[in-house]
Amino acid sequence: MLISSDLRILDSRPPGSPRRIRPLALRLLSLLGAAALLLLPALRAAEFRAGAAAVNVTPNLGTAVNGGVGPGRALHVHDDLFAKALVLDDGQTRLAWVVVDTCLVDREVFDAAKRLVVQHTGIPASHQMMSATHTHSAGAVTGAHLCEPDPTYRAWLPDRLADAVRVAVNRLAPAQIGWTSGSVPQHVFCRRLLIRPGMTYTNQLGFTGERAKMNWDSPHPADGEPSAPVDPELFVVSVQTAEGKPLAVLANYSLHYVGDVGPGHISADYFGVFADRLQQLLGADRQDPPFVALLSNGTSGDVNNVNPRERRAPQPAYTQIRRVAFDVADEALRVLEGLRHRRDVALSATTTEVRVITRRPTPTEIEQARQRVGGRSVAQLSGWLDNYARDTLLLADYPEALPVTLQVFRVGELAVAAWPGEIFASTGLELKRRSPVQPLFNIGLANGWYGYIPPPEQHALGAYETWRARTAPLDVDATVKLVDAFLGMLAGSR
Ligand SMILES: [Zn+2]
Repeated sequence: MLISSDLRILDSRPPGSPRRIRPLALRLLSLLGAAALLLLPALRAAEFRAGAAAVNVTPNLGTAVNGGVGPGRALHVHDDLFAKALVLDDGQTRLAWVVVDTCLVDREVFDAAKRLVVQHTGIPASHQMMSATHTHSAGAVTGAHLCEPDPTYRAWLPDRLADAVRVAVNRLAPAQIGWTSGSVPQHVFCRRLLIRPGMTYTNQLGFTGERAKMNWDSPHPADGEPSAPVDPELFVVSVQTAEGKPLAVLANYSLHYVGDVGPGHISADYFGVFADRLQQLLGADRQDPPFVALLSNGTSGDVNNVNPRERRAPQPAYTQIRRVAFDVADEALRVLEGLRHRRDVALSATTTEVRVITRRPTPTEIEQARQRVGGRSVAQLSGWLDNYARDTLLLADYPEALPVTLQVFRVGELAVAAWPGEIFASTGLELKRRSPVQPLFNIGLANGWYGYIPPPEQHALGAYETWRARTAPLDVDATVKLVDAFLGMLAGSR
């Protein structure tokens, strides 16, 4: 309409004069050119772009390492730790993922990093999804069990997380994206086992009567069936340059970690080996800017790499890490082959806060804990009983409810749900099944950490992840509330 009326204005020859086809065609061309010039900024802004970066977050030797009941210390660096960022931009909206090689990151540290990202890049906090891989051989950032973080490392990390995003933003370039999923069932096992009927089992706290046990002492005569399913899915988001070269991969697998590292070693566990191996398989070595592979943790609170029925022969450190990482990378490569990449995807983000009741100790439990701790400092405490007594005192000061952040990213039809804790596979599978948006994958340990968040039926069975502590502070029906909230967010994000 606009063009034809403009043509009438341009074609100002007197009525009846001979038609001058060539000049009119030229005018038409110049007009289209002008229109294209006017539209160019909009077209340019609508271009899909991506950038990725990895910055080193290896701590100094001597830094506290969490993961076990007591504190570990970094004695050697086997392989470096990284904070990795992937930034996507559809011309309207920018999304940033950060996946950092560490065990746990609480909300305070992630929020501090997000504020820095807002300040330097303008990407709102709601559009930043930050998560920990859950490697158990990294600098402690958040207190858990009897391990408190090194304050210097904790204070340093937010800048590094923000730097990863800033570098990724600096590298934003025309890109294309695709996603797909595969399955790696041979490396995921439910680590919670039902106690075999008729057997009596005494747990690590000296109590009998629970209906589930951990696989820590497996194979064990009391080992029954796994208490819940595992999620073997490997989800893979692939980002390529406009020319089709690998730019970044964001993968997601629901395995706690592998852990056969050397004593006192700093290592990114299989998360790091996967990234290195995939880069090799994709022929993406030594690119400029470098290819970045991020492996995020899914819902693996009750899933680890140990087959409870198998007594493993001793093997050199890192053997199993390499085996798992290579298998996961092989599967990623298999599903990436022939994957269609697109530029026409719209991005969006939704964040909400849900208040979840905390499980606080009774006055009697507090008094018993006080007697056990007896005024000793954390350095003087050891073992499970001391740990739970101290955590009982810490939980006595918790608020009645905690604000838990839930987040959903949309990349075209794809949804990514971020959970701030160690979520069980069955809960992740439930959200995958019930989500009105498909496909969906879950990232755990994201945007904060509220310990293990088992579903009510697993609370009823008991065992480690249900024992009230900083590692499991939330109410027994927390996942019901969180799944409902996610379903509402997903329905609204369509
Ligand atoms: Zn864990």
